[in-house]
Amino acid sequence: MNPNFPTNTEHGTSPIQFRRDQIKAGFLLPDGSQTTKSLEVRFDPLLGTSSRIAEGVVLSKADESALAVLQAPNSSCPFCPDRIRQVTPKLLEPIHTDGRLERGESVLFPNLVPYCQYAAVAVLSRKHWLALHEFTPERLFDSFSVALDYVSRVHRFDPRAQHCAYNMNYLYPSGGSLPHPHAQMYLDPYPTTMMRLQGEASLAYWNARGRSYWDDLAKAEEERGQRFVVKTGPVTWITAFAPIGFNEVQAVVSGRETLLDLTGDDLRALSAGISRVLQWYESIGYNSFNLALYSGPLNDSRGWRVHLSMITRTAMLPYYRSDAMHLERLHWEAAVDRLPEELATNLRGYFYTLPNAKERRI
Ligand SMILES: [Zn+2]
Repeated sequence: MNPNFPTNTEHGTSPIQFRRDQIKAGFLLPDGSQTTKSLEVRFDPLLGTSSRIAEGVVLSKADESALAVLQAPNSSCPFCPDRIRQVTPKLLEPIHTDGRLERGESVLFPNLVPYCQYAAVAVLSRKHWLALHEFTPERLFDSFSVALDYVSRVHRFDPRAQHCAYNMNYLYPSGGSLPHPHAQMYLDPYPTTMMRLQGEASLAYWNARGRSYWDDLAKAEEERGQRFVVKTGPVTWITAFAPIGFNEVQAVVSGRETLLDLTGDDLRALSAGISRVLQWYESIGYNSFNLALYSGPLNDSRGWRVHLSMITRTAMLPYYRSDAMHLERLHWEAAVDRLPEELATNLRGYFYTLPNAKERRI
């Protein structure tokens, strides 16, 4: 970044720098009068990548009537209970002799499309359709459980497969090809670009300061408060300072470097929090989302903490404007509509006031 770029930083003693700049865009309206619109550019404290929060960016909200076709039973869905064991592939025998890992409603098996060497799908529910409030903590917990079992088995089978993440695409705008709820496991000898960049930057931070960037981020956000949402056990929930997408919520699991370090209590805290965030997404008019739970490399995870990012995508509609335009796809630059601090205020209230009726104990 140009060192002369006039950025502001939030005050604080933390080495984490929250750099932001306000820009005014001026132009003439059709009637000849001059107007200005505001724009904020923010820089990710770890990577230095920039994001824009721009007045006037609008995403369409959900329309229930557009979901009828997807909600109806689908006799050709490969993930429904009457077909899943006939049509989905099986794991190699050295990984698991039964071919599929199961717990509760979750069933994990290899992905027919190998986006990575050990790509796997973890179907989340017996139900073909789930509204976001039906992504319950117990469903998420069972899904995490089979996913972590899978990571452990594959890593024993092939120690080169050390880069892993638990991911979700929900509904077509998110890139998901089947509406039946499922998670996607990434497990490969190579990290994704994001995992590599985060790994390099957080290792450099670790080497320079002897502390984890992610621990410092969670602490700094809790001290500042503007984007801090809640702490559930070892998990700190925040909104992203420089979002990579709409309504981005992040979580940091303190003291855990890889997915294989996560305890049952960690998974319960993550499951309960994700369920809350999804209910909030539903309440603000969205039904399509992406999620990634990033792990440090299983063979050397110095400086890492397991962390999570979730974003909403354009709601599922017959004709919609994608939330990813030239900026997101070709410039790696997000443009979103709402200030992260405003999102945190909204979500914080949701965490504290939502009745527990939809959450049973895991
Ligand atoms: Zn189905």
